[in-house]
Amino acid sequence: VWEKCLNIIRDIVEWQPFKTWFEPIKPIKLENNVLTIQVPSQFFYEYLEEHYVGLLGKTIKRELGKEARLEYRIVVENGTPHQHPRTVNMPTQFTKPQKDNEVDFPLTIHNPVKNPFVIPGIKRVQIDSQLNPNYTFDAYVEGDSNRVARRAGKTVAEKPGGTSFNPLVIYGGVGLGKTHLAQAVGNDVKRIHPNKAVLYVSAEKFINQFIDHSKNNIINDFIHFYQLIDVLIVDDIQFFARAEKTQDAFFAIFNHLHQSGKQLILTSDKAPKDLDGVQERLLSRFRWGLSADIQIPDFETRMEILEMKMRNDGLEMPKEVVKYVAYNIQTNVRELEGALISLLAQSSLNRKEIDLELAKRVLKSFVKTSSKEITIESIQKMVCEYFDVPYDKLLQKTRKREIVQARQITMYLAKSFTKNSLKTIGEHFGGRDHTTVIHSCQTVKDLMDTDNNFRDSVIELQQKVQLAAM
Ligand code: ADP
Ligand code: MG
Repeated sequence: VWEKCLNIIRDIVEWQPFKTWFEPIKPIKLENNVLTIQVPSQFFYEYLEEHYVGLLGKTIKRELGKEARLEYRIVVENGTPHQHPRTVNMPTQFTKPQKDNEVDFPLTIHNPVKNPFVIPGIKRVQIDSQLNPNYTFDAYVEGDSNRVARRAGKTVAEKPGGTSFNPLVIYGGVGLGKTHLAQAVGNDVKRIHPNKAVLYVSAEKFINQFIDHSKNNIINDFIHFYQLIDVLIVDDIQFFARAEKTQDAFFAIFNHLHQSGKQLILTSDKAPKDLDGVQERLLSRFRWGLSADIQIPDFETRMEILEMKMRNDGLEMPKEVVKYVAYNIQTNVRELEGALISLLAQSSLNRKEIDLELAKRVLKSFVKTSSKEITIESIQKMVCEYFDVPYDKLLQKTRKREIVQARQITMYLAKSFTKNSLKTIGEHFGGRDHTTVIHSCQTVKDLMDTDNNFRDSVIELQQKVQLAAM
């Protein structure tokens, strides 16, 4: 009977998948319209159930009549010898839709053997985590930009798999600390739970491994290996987009780990909902846990990061230089580090202490030099928009507090972003003289030191001016 079924299936399924998924099946017995087939792994069973359940069902019904049922027996042939074959009696529902949305695979119906998939030669505890030991929580500065993600990471590290943060999805732009944070969780798990098997893998590596294994028809080994992990960290899952086959395998691994109470930590450069090309069934599983984003760190956090890096490397530089760097590098932490390293390199090259002048010179190559010129007028326009102040009010003698502040900030920005003299700047504000401009700049600096909201506004405006000039 099975031979007949196979002949039908062979005509429908392409050669490669047929070879991969149907040839290894062994018919075991046929009793009372129940056909039992043996498959070599749990994953195999899941894959068949997911992709070919309809086809299998129809074919068997055709051969054996309406009442026919299919049962699977899973026998892991390369399992260690003392383990018993595992039998899953799972009547196939012929009506099950091909596409899985919410349906879960019944991975846990029978689970008599704990950890049934041991690949010979690989012991759980001997997995090399692939973690960078420098990526710790201690070396990860907390700020508003990453607080939720960092704290969630801490919680997960204490109770991997034991919180609702499973999976923990960390997302955010490049260089903002996703890899560092994800690895910090891994390192902390190893510290707190030395027996847990932690594994870090980039999505790219995962895809390549998968491709290697599928070429050699040993996808099962691949899947089994991953199913042994207690805490699996997959970095940059946006690379999974459109890698359909890899997603299938990852889906199986994800389900297995999640259902066995194992922890998954994923990072992505996009919010899960924006991950085009990733299967909806995966995305819906990502929503089971917690998604936490990492933003660009604010000025204070950037200062702290710089100061910590300097402390760790035993370096010193004047506070004003640290401030200058933190002000001007507003893209991401990697660039912040890059600027620091360039500064050090330049200073040792020129045998010169790091000072503001050197910082300005070095940072020129970081802060993209303006292609569009920044003018006093363009800054005025931007500030007016930002504070919702009419342009003419900015120039008049209005003494209203908001307008005075907007005017002072505009002067300050004009001074720092354009090469105009104080006199010229004053002239652009309804003919004020240069002492007014000096006074305004000083007021802004003072207020920035004392008033957080004020400083945030100024920094945001600085960012806007810079962006506009790029
Ligand atoms: P991503 O993976 O988001 O691209 P990374 O984790 O590789 O970013 O971070 C880039 C660099 O910035 C790393 O060297 C990392 O140590 C550092 N970094 C990022 N965020 C922080 C932070 N909050 N505190 C200290 N260092 C950080
Ligand atoms: Mg990264």
